[in-house]
Amino acid sequence: MIILKNCKKIITQNDKREILENYNIVIEKNLIKSISKDIENQKFTDNDTIIDCSQKIVMPGLINMHTHLPMTFLKGYSDDKELKEWLEKDIWPKEATMTKNDIKQSSLLALKELLLTGTTTFVDMYYHLDAMLEAIKEIPLRSYLGYGVIDGTINYDIETNKTNWIDFNKTQKELNGVNESIKMYEEIKMTNLPVKILITPHSPYTVNESTLKKLKNIANKNNLKYLIHVNETRTEFYNVKKQYNKSPIEFLNDLKVLDSNSILVHNVWATKMELDILKKTNSHLVFCATSNAKLASGSVFPYRESKKRNINITLGTDGSSSNNCLDMFQEMKFSSLLIKNHLWDPTVANAQEILDCATINAANALGEKIGSLKEDYIADLITLDANDVTLQPDTNNIISHLVYSLNSYSTQDVIVNGEILLNNRKIIKKYV
Ligand SMILES: [Zn+2]
Repeated sequence: MIILKNCKKIITQNDKREILENYNIVIEKNLIKSISKDIENQKFTDNDTIIDCSQKIVMPGLINMHTHLPMTFLKGYSDDKELKEWLEKDIWPKEATMTKNDIKQSSLLALKELLLTGTTTFVDMYYHLDAMLEAIKEIPLRSYLGYGVIDGTINYDIETNKTNWIDFNKTQKELNGVNESIKMYEEIKMTNLPVKILITPHSPYTVNESTLKKLKNIANKNNLKYLIHVNETRTEFYNVKKQYNKSPIEFLNDLKVLDSNSILVHNVWATKMELDILKKTNSHLVFCATSNAKLASGSVFPYRESKKRNINITLGTDGSSSNNCLDMFQEMKFSSLLIKNHLWDPTVANAQEILDCATINAANALGEKIGSLKEDYIADLITLDANDVTLQPDTNNIISHLVYSLNSYSTQDVIVNGEILLNNRKIIKKYV
């Protein structure tokens, strides 16, 4: 058992958003067994680990809903460029040179960054998932890995004002990649690694209609989430519209790939009609404020319109080549500020709402018992140094400090699936 003793504060993120003082958390196997004031009568053995939390804030680990971990390899490699030029001239050619070892080493760097900044779950899209898995065995954060499928692109000809589909002739290779990831999942299930697979077509402009549908069938058959980038740029919106005579989300909806297992990333150019579709299909959204701002996507995530429709909003950093970090505390702050500034309204996207996006809402999108500290929930949690200067003065509004002030490197301990991965800022490597 692990006992978090005498916690200075526990940010429960439970239904009442209670903040408890001087409580204890007992973790047994991978679950939170109890959260209680009095544990004096309980018997502990020498095998149990007791963490003194009298000077620590305990909260659910943050959930980063959109990453490309190995892109940490490309951090700082190409900045300050247009998305199309950045992707096609710099990022994709450089990615093509990456070896499996590059993928493993850059994933390890990314995992360290996530761990040290208080993230316990990430949702990824990339390739060479086997090399990523090797890194995850060393730092086993809760991981969702998707093989990123790209099998062509919509090309726009300025002379004729027409679009056409350029096929890369690699659909079968890509489907093989997805099938291999599912095979890998069968092996993962035999271990106690907290790793799941999901299905990740890159976008409506880089995956053809029939592949998008096939991938959804694979997701349905294997009960997997389906995550896709959509409406990231104005160019994408108009190219899809020209090619299919439908907006990107209308197009996806007509393919019947949208439902409560669908997670849509970016969505900064969505129309109100598209948001209505997302509401109707119970799809989930991932807001990547920093990445969109750095690549100057031009529009801003429709936070208020999505919230009005009760669409589930989560947060992600995106890859480190467009962010350039994986720090979810920074991401929470910037997400809130960007929306406030954009809408000329400081009352929207308040600190509690944004913390919910990074915890409860993400847990809802993934359908996992994480994101809140409750009895019988999975023990994915972090502790912070309560004496860190960025958490002072010790006011009654700790949620404000967490979102608007905290230096994420005040993270002290990280527990994922009931295992201590960071202890007093020392990384505990597993399975190596
Ligand atoms: Zn992305």
